[in-house]
Amino acid sequence: MHSAKYATSRRIQNAKQSERLIQKSDASEVRRSDEVMFLQSDGFFETHAPKLLQRLSCLARSVALQEGWLSKSQAERLQARVVEWHCQESPGPGIPDPRHYDMDSLVTVDVMCSEPGLDFRGGELRTLELDGRLKDHSFGLCDILVFQAHKYHCVAPVVEGCRKALVLEFWDGPARRCRHRCTSFEPDCPMRSPESPPRKLLEGCCPSALRLADVISAA
Ligand SMILES: [Zn+2]
Repeated sequence: MHSAKYATSRRIQNAKQSERLIQKSDASEVRRSDEVMFLQSDGFFETHAPKLLQRLSCLARSVALQEGWLSKSQAERLQARVVEWHCQESPGPGIPDPRHYDMDSLVTVDVMCSEPGLDFRGGELRTLELDGRLKDHSFGLCDILVFQAHKYHCVAPVVEGCRKALVLEFWDGPARRCRHRCTSFEPDCPMRSPESPPRKLLEGCCPSALRLADVISAA
């Protein structure tokens, strides 16, 4: 597990302020709890947060190389498979399966977009270690965790507030723009996508992700 703090305290403060403003102004737009939105849909994230996408892609590649997870050519081929916006309101189950992993991806990057202890309680990110212990990871607002996608990980139940996180999975497949977590390695996705146009929903559900994206990109 590689942890990278990209935000200075000033940036974190800015992010917190932005988050508060956004939470206030967009409270009516928040949909039901346990929401996962696929921000890569139709190139939405790439269009709205190109710097952040580039930065997180570079981070995935460099950490994979540094940690010896991938060869140079493998790391260079990494592409964003899915960009998920997780918004889990209490009471939320988290991700209860201690053996959950991100099948067929190579590197997962998680960005915490709300503040533990203030915006929510519970929701700790844990990994299952070789000795059978579940290890808690420090994961504060604007922290970025990078780990091998096959590493078992889970999230404790959210017992109060709302836990928001941005999750990107990188794989040795094409950069995806389809409206799901793609399982096809074909150049063009042959799978059926949900028919409802996602853009309005995306814009309604993830403003704080995009605002934080600006803050992190500028840091
Ligand atoms: Zn697809």
